[in-house]
Amino acid sequence: MLRYQARSARSIKPTFPLAHSVRAPFLITLARGYASSPEYDVVVIGGGPGGYVAAIKASQLGLKTACVEGRGALGGTCLNVGCIPSKSLLHNSHLYHQAVHDFKKRGIEVGEVKVNLPQMLGQKEKSVKTLTGGIELLFRKNKTDYHKGWGKIVSPNEVAVDGVDGSSATLKTKNIIIATGSEVSPFPGIEIDEEVIVSSTGALSLKKIPEKMVVIGGGVIGLELGSVWSRLGAQVTTVEYLDAIGAGMDADLAKTFQKTLTKQGMKFKLGTKVISAKKNANGKVDVVTEPAKGGAQEQFEVDVVLVAIGRRPFTKGLGLESVGVEVDNKGRVKTDHEFKTNVPGIRAIGDVITGPMLAHKAEEEGIAAIEYIAGGHGHVNYNAIPSVIYTWPEVAWVGKTEAEVKASGAKYNVGSFPFAANSRAKTMDDYDGTIKIISDKETDRILGAHIIGPNAGEMIAEAVLALEYGASSEDVARTCHAHPTLSEAFKEACMAAYSKPIHF
Ligand SMILES: Cc1cc2nc3c(=O)[nH]c(=O)nc-3n(C[C@H](O)[C@H](O)[C@H](O)COP(=O)(O)OP(=O)(O)OC[C@H]3O[C@@H](n4cnc5c(N)ncnc54)[C@H](O)[C@@H]3O)c2cc1C
Repeated sequence: MLRYQARSARSIKPTFPLAHSVRAPFLITLARGYASSPEYDVVVIGGGPGGYVAAIKASQLGLKTACVEGRGALGGTCLNVGCIPSKSLLHNSHLYHQAVHDFKKRGIEVGEVKVNLPQMLGQKEKSVKTLTGGIELLFRKNKTDYHKGWGKIVSPNEVAVDGVDGSSATLKTKNIIIATGSEVSPFPGIEIDEEVIVSSTGALSLKKIPEKMVVIGGGVIGLELGSVWSRLGAQVTTVEYLDAIGAGMDADLAKTFQKTLTKQGMKFKLGTKVISAKKNANGKVDVVTEPAKGGAQEQFEVDVVLVAIGRRPFTKGLGLESVGVEVDNKGRVKTDHEFKTNVPGIRAIGDVITGPMLAHKAEEEGIAAIEYIAGGHGHVNYNAIPSVIYTWPEVAWVGKTEAEVKASGAKYNVGSFPFAANSRAKTMDDYDGTIKIISDKETDRILGAHIIGPNAGEMIAEAVLALEYGASSEDVARTCHAHPTLSEAFKEACMAAYSKPIHF
């Protein structure tokens, strides 16, 4: 519930209160003016975090709005088969892992600890159902029409809906927002059956804990779901084509991260490509790999293979070609900075356009696209979109990596601070990890923050705020942080980055 409660709150108290209050009378006139115009002001196709947030925002701004969603539940990939179910499994598998491997040394003795997988999966389903149902309630509260069915753009002002109940309708509208998200990228030659060769969707619902599992792809989704099954007892090997895991993260963090996961029992085959994965007569999977640079092949048998090589934009059946909406060479809908496509009246947001495939990025774009439609301006700061990997320890970052700053030619400072020197982490006996801050050498402005450690996903919010407000590392270093907290490590890392030390 928190996600959209927070959203509603933001809508009531928008980012730019002045701009919104000045615009309010205009919006009321706008809404009245629409009474005799086409059926809808906005039709959003796709009810994921981009689409549902955009639809609610549009309704709250007085625009007559409909959201068309074909999967039969709101919330998109994120709530149904993505962020939410994976975080539920990550949380509960972490508790199990702690109970088995960690409690005793903390003076907590328990009897035999066992996994009840159906119960754990049931908990996951419960979190999904509560949250998706909550969005339906919000739609009703905000008078957003929800059309359950697959939408097809028939003209820049019409969306045909093929209802899940067999009905059909055509919605007339002034504006269309494409928020159709993404789907799993297939691995050529590997057939996903969601039983023994699974995508992330199947990996969220395995019927039993595999003895051996191979994860193809060392990106965020592969590492998170690999972690879940590793904690529950599977021997997990991640095969990654590149020489590092966590595609895109700062190189120092990637190394520390891999070491930590290895200590937890996960195995890695880096610089390795998967040649094939086929179900065999024993109902298991034969996997063949080869060094990326060429060399001897290796074959082994595992119980489950997870294909996690990325996601691709989803536009199937949307009718883009017939109305002439342009896509790029990766199938992403092309948009300008106002999320407009090349066809007037049609905009696109979220995973289906360029940029990181993240729920909060989709939400920001959904809000901004509606603000542009409502006659104002939108705001998405792509330099301040955090990424989080919800393993333990967590990994989180925002802004530029050191390699990116170096490549830009800017002179910079690096400040780092290990959690091993943080008093709260010590009291928790959970101090694997570090914080790295990169700041501009001349202006001291923070350019990037990279955290691996306990609760990194929560701590990164402070760094995002710092980037959003253009803070210097001195600004953060001079900000009082409560003691003893993990966030003191962030302050210390900023102190280290700040060229004139003010500490001691
Ligand atoms: C396992 C996993 C874990 C993830 N974890 C995180 C995480 O922790 N944090 C994070 O930020 N991101 C995470 N993501 C990514 C996140 O889920 C996506 O970035 C986000 O859902 C994108 O939102 P969206 O609204 O653009 O698209 P989606 O969420 O994909 O929603 C699009 C919706 O459109 C519907 N649709 C498509 N075509 C039509 C049509 N023609 N008519 C009607 N409906 C249509 C689809 O059914 C879908 O429900 C995760 C993804 C996966 C797979």
